[in-house]
Amino acid sequence: MSSFLSESDPLIFNALTSEVDRQRHQIELIASENIVSQGVLEALGHRITNKTLEGYPGHRFHGGAEFADTIEQAAIDRVKKLFNCEYANVQPHSGTQANQAVFFAALKPGDRILSLDLAAGGHLSHGAAPNLSGRWFDAHHYAVDRTTGLIDYDQLYQQAMSLKPKMLIAGGSAYPRELDFARMAEIASDVGALLLADMAHIAGLVAGGAHPSPVPHADIVTCTTTKTLRGPRGGLIMSRDQAWAKKMQSSVFPGVQGSLHTNVIAAKAVCLGEALKPTFRDYAAQVVKNARVLAETLVANKIDLVSNGTDTHLLLLDFSNKSLKGQVVQDALAEINITSNKNPVPFDTTRPSEWAGLRLGAAAVTTRGFAEAQMGEIASMVSTVIDRCSAGDLEDAKTALKQNVASLCQQFPI
Ligand SMILES: *Cc1c(COP(=O)(O)O)cnc(C)c1O
Repeated sequence: MSSFLSESDPLIFNALTSEVDRQRHQIELIASENIVSQGVLEALGHRITNKTLEGYPGHRFHGGAEFADTIEQAAIDRVKKLFNCEYANVQPHSGTQANQAVFFAALKPGDRILSLDLAAGGHLSHGAAPNLSGRWFDAHHYAVDRTTGLIDYDQLYQQAMSLKPKMLIAGGSAYPRELDFARMAEIASDVGALLLADMAHIAGLVAGGAHPSPVPHADIVTCTTTKTLRGPRGGLIMSRDQAWAKKMQSSVFPGVQGSLHTNVIAAKAVCLGEALKPTFRDYAAQVVKNARVLAETLVANKIDLVSNGTDTHLLLLDFSNKSLKGQVVQDALAEINITSNKNPVPFDTTRPSEWAGLRLGAAAVTTRGFAEAQMGEIASMVSTVIDRCSAGDLEDAKTALKQNVASLCQQFPI
């Protein structure tokens, strides 16, 4: 019980050590990733993980809750302050479970929902066929405009009018542009639907004032604390007023979850505290600037981007005109220690191995300290890899590119 992991379980210890090494020596461009603080790590690894608790602060089913109550209440208060909302639930174990709790509170099996299509940047938990939400609800999807890559709100209005969904869902995982939450609320209200805004990817940008907030517009807002918010893996539910409070509390517990992950809630409180500091606004602004430099440089190098750019932390490269696949470029970038992920592009109906897109994000590299100059360098390396992949002569360029990545990582250590 008291020996160090290096002695008691070398297999896991060595894999963990190698993972830290990987993070130090790779440029992380996966849009859902970030680098959490020492404070968040300390909370995650804390002995409070021993504590079993159900219920909410002041109303627990188990004893010994006083310190956990302080922590959960602080997390709740910080969500309210950060996002300017009156209701917050900090217990969801993940973004997917936050959405599940919302569905459990607001819908019945068979109810109709309308959400962004997966290929257009939507999320599995918004009614995708293999997900519980797709199995239990009558899920329909809206796409983006074929030429602009943007959500066409007039078309969405028409679709919502004819479908009359019970819930309209805003938000996704690979939509690079600003979302018009006010417009979506108008559409929802016109067709008698509830509006759920899932701001998982952009929560940190919203917190830092770099993207408009859905809170004043949506009935319910969910997000992850991972991704741009730069916290532990977990979810949040909030709303501008108390209208959903009672139903939502019992939907999270005992509706879809059991006991708290108290160490994670402590880590959520820590990351929310960090997001309330003025420096977080600088970080959020820099994330958007960095993504823009990445996008502009790639476009200048004749690489197609969905919607031709970005307003957020993420961009979606489209290789449909290059007869390249996302997987091929992802693998090639991995060879020079740049990490990314293949993605469908709008209207992509192929298998994952054939997807024509690659998603890149600027949150983790911004936390690492990269600014415009480094993003320009990364963009030109990514462009070189894409050109070389097309020409089939990556091999000659690899050594120099790898050295360049190593030197950037060395200048900005984690
Ligand atoms: C990442 C994400 C989620 C899911 O979060 P998990 O914690 O991985 O379950 C939900 N919705 C959106 C839009 C996301 O991007």
